Amino acid sequence: MKFNTKTIHGGQQHDPAYGAVMPPIYQTSTYAQTTPGGHKGFEYSRTHNPTRKALEDSFASIENGKFGLAFGSGLAAIDAVIKLLKPGDEVISTSDLYGGTYRIFTKIFEDFGIKFHFIGMENADKIEQYVNDKTKLIWVETPTNPMMNIIDIKAVAMISKKHNIVLAVDNTFATPYLQRPLDLGADIVMHSATKYMGGHSDVVMGALIVKDEKIAERLYFIQNASGAVCGPQDSFLVLRGIKTLHIRMQRHCENGEAIAKYLKNHPKIEKVYWPGFEDHPNHDIAAAQMDGFGGMISFITKGSDYDKAIKIVENLKIFTLAESLGGVESLAGHPASMTHASIPKEEREKTGVVDALIRLSVGIEDVDDLIADLDQAIG
Ligand SMILES: *Cc1c(COP(=O)(O)O)cnc(C)c1O
Repeated sequence: MKFNTKTIHGGQQHDPAYGAVMPPIYQTSTYAQTTPGGHKGFEYSRTHNPTRKALEDSFASIENGKFGLAFGSGLAAIDAVIKLLKPGDEVISTSDLYGGTYRIFTKIFEDFGIKFHFIGMENADKIEQYVNDKTKLIWVETPTNPMMNIIDIKAVAMISKKHNIVLAVDNTFATPYLQRPLDLGADIVMHSATKYMGGHSDVVMGALIVKDEKIAERLYFIQNASGAVCGPQDSFLVLRGIKTLHIRMQRHCENGEAIAKYLKNHPKIEKVYWPGFEDHPNHDIAAAQMDGFGGMISFITKGSDYDKAIKIVENLKIFTLAESLGGVESLAGHPASMTHASIPKEEREKTGVVDALIRLSVGIEDVDDLIADLDQAIG
């Protein structure tokens, strides 16, 4: 089955009870048993729920994995991955990272005795100098948020395999429409399904997808034991969202490209961060490992500072000033004061998240309207 078919049919069956084409929202916590243990595969909804199961099978299918797991948020999914580790274990992570991921690593798991090394991975060779026999996990985000750096997943996977380290990739920005990390050698794919997977800014959810049965078993154990699951209604919404993932992503990419080019040619723009430009430092890797460049763009206007950047995002009318990304509607954000406020200023600026930076999540509206909106806001 090809991707555009998998988003609609992958892992799906018509409901056995009445043939419903969409899996019903099984709004139930428990399941009748005829005798203790005499059930139809479902006992309690923290452990399993048929609507969540349909979604988890869809996740597995579109990421070319074998096992999917759905969580109450992207961070709950990340939390489950780190619970594969023990005190004393070490993690090597990309330094340009979603703020909440940085926060859970440093403010929660460091207190449990896990050590994190945050490094730039644009040159994968740099990773090996941080590897020792305590290194158990490499955490990669690509494209990175919000600097749109690209990391070579295949090159990182060669290192992780050589040293027997688990490689996890946060694939939230690219989605499996553009990039399939398991095919490139990753062990775990993570998503904030809140973003493109759900796609309609109406649900908060996380996902993990794996191929290896042993890792999957441990993650299912953690999912049930820690209990950060999502409900059946949210599972239904994301499953419904995935059915249009391919056409939404196609339009996100088209609009993203048009806006990136518009900004690049604008006399008042200093810098545009978008991996589709040939002068992007890792454009070749992006072109090789991705099937398109997505709808996430960051930019800085000439001579800008905190106040000027705030003014631009406040002036936008069609782009909504809001946290999050990946919905059908265009959003604009100011990373330094919003998504990345939890990263200390000094750390933040080292990776390029300066006060003047603006991040766009380009939606699927008419691109002429979006460009006109940017035009009036930039002035
Ligand atoms: C939003 C986001 C997360 C966190 O996901 P939540 O669903 O908000 O918990 C993690 N990684 C990236 C890249 C994100 O954009």
